[in-house]
Amino acid sequence: MKAVVSLNSGSSSIKFSLFAMEPGGSLQLAAGGKIEKIGIVPALKARRTDGTILLDRTWPDGAGLTHADLLADLFSWAMQHPLEGYEIAAIGHRIVHGGTEFSVPRRIDSELIDKLEALCPLAPLHQPHNLAAVRAITKLDPDLPQVACFDTAFHHDKPALASRFAIPRALHDQGIRRYGFHGLSYEYIARRLAAIDPALASGKVIAAHLGNGASLCAMAAGQSVDTTMGFTALDGLMMGSRSGSLDPGVVLHLMTQMGMGAKTIEDMLYRQSGLLGVSGISSDMRTLAASDAPEAKEAIDLFAWRVARDTGALAASLEGVDGIIFTAGIGENDAGMRSLIGRRLQWLGLEIDDRANAAGETLISAPESRIKALVIPTDEERMIAIHTLSLLQETAQ
Ligand code: ADP
Repeated sequence: MKAVVSLNSGSSSIKFSLFAMEPGGSLQLAAGGKIEKIGIVPALKARRTDGTILLDRTWPDGAGLTHADLLADLFSWAMQHPLEGYEIAAIGHRIVHGGTEFSVPRRIDSELIDKLEALCPLAPLHQPHNLAAVRAITKLDPDLPQVACFDTAFHHDKPALASRFAIPRALHDQGIRRYGFHGLSYEYIARRLAAIDPALASGKVIAAHLGNGASLCAMAAGQSVDTTMGFTALDGLMMGSRSGSLDPGVVLHLMTQMGMGAKTIEDMLYRQSGLLGVSGISSDMRTLAASDAPEAKEAIDLFAWRVARDTGALAASLEGVDGIIFTAGIGENDAGMRSLIGRRLQWLGLEIDDRANAAGETLISAPESRIKALVIPTDEERMIAIHTLSLLQETAQ
């Protein structure tokens, strides 16, 4: 049976999922896995959907192995151990930046790779790793169709005002603008919501993607009209280890008064801030929830406050709100956090149903609530596979 593979290649990990192309045209998740700790002690795990381990391997001396080396290993293994006869028909990649040009997924060719390479300065921590995976696959099998799915694309057509920083126009024209990210997640949520509650999906909705990375997206009739991330995935909400939005004067102060260089500041803002920086304990919400330390509680409260505060901002962008969707690791699993945020949004008419919230139901707002609240698990890998399959079918016609 033919299958589509989704690849999500980050700085130190590569996540992959294999979706079988069922005869009726649907995609069935068959296997998935992760290459982790690239650059340290790489480890590769793959398992079937039923939990059976397909592959479990570590490279104790593999600190020098690149994304390309490890993908080559994964590929050669997949060729020797065909997954019950699955034949890979195409690979879809999560590409963090599509710049101003790409608003829909694209079939990858050398011209596209050059254009995406030119966008690396806009996302230096992510785009090069995304493209490393594309190149590695091209080298292994130049004829295998590959598709680029952009994390910025869902926000591409948001109103012009929501794309602009209040800086000189020339800089905007050079690409320094608010792009927005987590687009594959929001696109998936918009589709699922249309199936679960079509009336709400056609209204004004704020989706909260709360994971290690965190952002909000304001959607009107399923289209993005504003989002909290901007030029980079550092903007907006407080995250696991990222600061979220910050007075730019702080960065100037760190440089001019405290003598910090760009690399140190980058490390501080991306890796030492957020839940980790405020708690001094962990970037992981579960660890903080289990801690008695007042700093852990403060980090949790600040996270909830920032989500509520930016929800207010996006409600203003939307000029009203009919519903809120929680998704990603924290949004899907942390009833306590949903409750904290819900309490701060009572002024919007939100009443969380404590029982439904604790039980992990889809609809967690009370019947008398003026706006709805839902929990919808996201699936960026499936969104990539859906796009990849539809481009494959288009080009076959
Ligand atoms: P990533 O952005 O890396 O994909 P995830 O969406 O997996 O991140 O979210 C990771 C976050 O979700 C972590 O802070 C983790 O503690 C939190 N999380 C996962 N499961 C739970 C849970 N059951 N309760 C509370 N938090 C959870």
